[in-house]
Amino acid sequence: MGVMAGSFSNKEVAQILREVAAAYEVKGNSYFQARAYHAAAEVIEQAGTLIKDLWEQGKLQELPGIGGNISQHLDELFRTGKVKHFTQVKKGLPPGMFPLLQIPGLGPKSAYKLAKALNVKSVNDLKKACQQNRVARLEGFGKTSQEKILHSLKSFLTKTPARMLLPVADYTAQKIISFLAPLPSIIRVDPLGSLRRMASTIGDIDLAVASSNPAQIIDKFLKFPDTQEIINQGKVEASLRLSNGTRVDLRVQDAAGYGALLQHYTGSKRHNIHLRELARTKNLSLSEYGIRKGGKRGRLIKFATEEEFYSYLGLDWIPPELREDTGEIEAAQEKKLPQLVKTSDIKGDLHVHCNFDLEESHDAGQSSIEEIAQKGIELGYHYIAIGNHSPSVSRHNQDQIRHLILAKQKEINRVQKKFPQIKLLNMIEVDVLANKTLALDDNNLKLLDIAIAGVHSSLNQPKEQMTERVLAALNNPYIHGLAHPTGRLLNQRKGYELNWDKVFTACIKGDKFLEINSFYNRLDLPDMLIKQAIKAGVKLAINTDAHEINSLNLIKYGVATARRGWAEKKNIINTKNTFP
Ligand SMILES: [Zn+2]
Ligand SMILES: [Zn+2]
Repeated sequence: MGVMAGSFSNKEVAQILREVAAAYEVKGNSYFQARAYHAAAEVIEQAGTLIKDLWEQGKLQELPGIGGNISQHLDELFRTGKVKHFTQVKKGLPPGMFPLLQIPGLGPKSAYKLAKALNVKSVNDLKKACQQNRVARLEGFGKTSQEKILHSLKSFLTKTPARMLLPVADYTAQKIISFLAPLPSIIRVDPLGSLRRMASTIGDIDLAVASSNPAQIIDKFLKFPDTQEIINQGKVEASLRLSNGTRVDLRVQDAAGYGALLQHYTGSKRHNIHLRELARTKNLSLSEYGIRKGGKRGRLIKFATEEEFYSYLGLDWIPPELREDTGEIEAAQEKKLPQLVKTSDIKGDLHVHCNFDLEESHDAGQSSIEEIAQKGIELGYHYIAIGNHSPSVSRHNQDQIRHLILAKQKEINRVQKKFPQIKLLNMIEVDVLANKTLALDDNNLKLLDIAIAGVHSSLNQPKEQMTERVLAALNNPYIHGLAHPTGRLLNQRKGYELNWDKVFTACIKGDKFLEINSFYNRLDLPDMLIKQAIKAGVKLAINTDAHEINSLNLIKYGVATARRGWAEKKNIINTKNTFP
């Protein structure tokens, strides 16, 4: 086809990857590949840097979720204009299904059926087919589905873009910060808003700069590469839109008043409203410039740091992750803020996938046991779980599974001898099957150092049934904990519902952990549930669920989510020096 390397926008690359994800999903043989491609598409679409530039700099794998395999395929794409592997994956599928993937709520399988049965080739074709009542007559669709599709088609044109995933927003912000960093007049730069509070998804990117030379800062900021449009250019603030549509706002303040600016624009709105009410009782008024005594016309007091700002109000400094008005202001008044867990507290990762061939139910990791051990040492870990999904139960009996586990143990033992400084744990993420049984029997579970239960199929079971399913797993004496407990995928699906009281009770009774999964589109448990779990006395583990060693670096986002849930070091089991 001869597309020139370099003619790909992030959006185009994302669409290519989405089509591959859809093909995997329709063919139904590769759950993890489908998810990995979908997630990579999301990350690339949201990245504030041109993916092709990253490729030229050899930095593709800097992006979260772009592992070895995908980056190799992208390399082929940029060099030759197409990817042999992608063509192969899409082989046999009607090309008309792919444009339909853009319609919200229309999954790949439906797109496939519509394209195949009705010869639909475009969004417009589908609209016509609906209007001619042809979709309603199609088996498995019916009148309701047809109306739903028509409704989606209407909202399709006015749809709002998805929010950015936290690691992607963080990555983009860091790019801009390092672009500005060489300027001599810069004293400090910080992200603001939901990014500084480390929320799981982010809207716009906001940055604050401490400097006595705002003109110099703004001049440089507006020269950031990949800028599509300058939205606003003022004396102390400016806004631009990146080529991927992300808006970036920058504010400059002199060092003497920087603390108030940082506090004001970090929010959250609710936190600041509560803070203003508190200030009013002391006859003070707050703004991004500082605090005025005796109301709005009083003398302005400036604050170089947030610590001084909060202290003036009689409060301990509140970590940004807590600023959601869920009790942090009261706690700061009483000097009872939690000592939040830090990334440096983490002593091991209990959920990493390796490429040892365990003939798994869904896809294996991409890194070898040896590579994982080395990466663990690099991160200063004392132990690391060498994981796999459970072998597929349709293709293996328990005796065959036993042999696979023992073969893997042999390989772990071999690598362990080479790396005595880190303890390698034989781990399996055990499928909790739709009928409430586990994919491994007790005799096989016993062979493992750690077994984590995970729900990966029949995700739309009703709440009570799903709860029973999870409880059955947690009641097994050989299961240590529950992976990604809600099953949510950010921007993609909400996750299943569980009766959390029952789940918490089972965890406490059986001494099981709930996972805080750091994978960038999971961040699961969500912060609110972390807080509830801690209150109930449930122990937690922060893991990455990495399928290649790069993703082990995502741990800081799991830690950030834990911090948003008020977690302290003592609540997290993998802050201990040994496991268990
Ligand atoms: Zn899983
Ligand atoms: Zn996993």
